[in-house]
Amino acid sequence: MNRSLSERISQLQKKILQALLKSQNPERHIRLICVSKGQDESAILEVQSLGYREFGENYAQELEQKARCLSSAPIKWIFIGTLQSNKISHIVRYAAEIQTVTSEKHVRLIAKYATEYQKTPFPVSISIKTGQEETKSGISFEQARSLAQTIKNDFPELKLLGLMTLPPPIEELDLDDKGIPFAYHPLKDMALQIGDGLLSLGMSNDFEAAIKAGSDCIRIGSTIFGEREKKNMLK
Ligand SMILES: *Cc1c(COP(=O)(O)O)cnc(C)c1O
Repeated sequence: MNRSLSERISQLQKKILQALLKSQNPERHIRLICVSKGQDESAILEVQSLGYREFGENYAQELEQKARCLSSAPIKWIFIGTLQSNKISHIVRYAAEIQTVTSEKHVRLIAKYATEYQKTPFPVSISIKTGQEETKSGISFEQARSLAQTIKNDFPELKLLGLMTLPPPIEELDLDDKGIPFAYHPLKDMALQIGDGLLSLGMSNDFEAAIKAGSDCIRIGSTIFGEREKKNMLK
């Protein structure tokens, strides 16, 4: 066993707990998605052997390769990358959940393939922009609200969990006196207005602030696995 890996994870768990105790609802469960993009199968199995089941992937091909290779391990793959319509069939086939839905076209395709692969109701979240930035994928909250209505009215093949967001780096945001970016303040309420209220917010550099702001699901890569090679960095 790679000692530094288990040490990094127990350090992480301590920080999660501390942040949770400083949040409004310290009794809640925080889902930890281990983001394994750019990591090899042996590292994933090591983390899995420590009791983790949810692994996040960003690219359809990499997801397929890992899911096939590790098909006998008790792993749930969560898709957190930008969705492309022509990859949705593969993603639905291999993933247990998609957090990055941004259009009715995606919804239609996920419903179709979830039916085909007998994976209904398929859990999804809508990806929203946190701020005004144009570079991140994700739709506005108003668009998300309307997409959520469409899913609830017309797509029983999907189960809408809530919202996912990838905010700008925390260093670029204005913080309140608890160290929480003002931009995070409305997010939990928005998630509660959509689906089941899941808020997927928080990565290695900002998970503590995210948990204090009400996040239910953090997506941690480099803190668990160590730095990724540059070519595999998130787009
Ligand atoms: C890569 C990635 C993460 C994990 O980032 P780290 O900083 O390595 O923890 C989380 N969410 C998304 C959407 C990502 O692409």
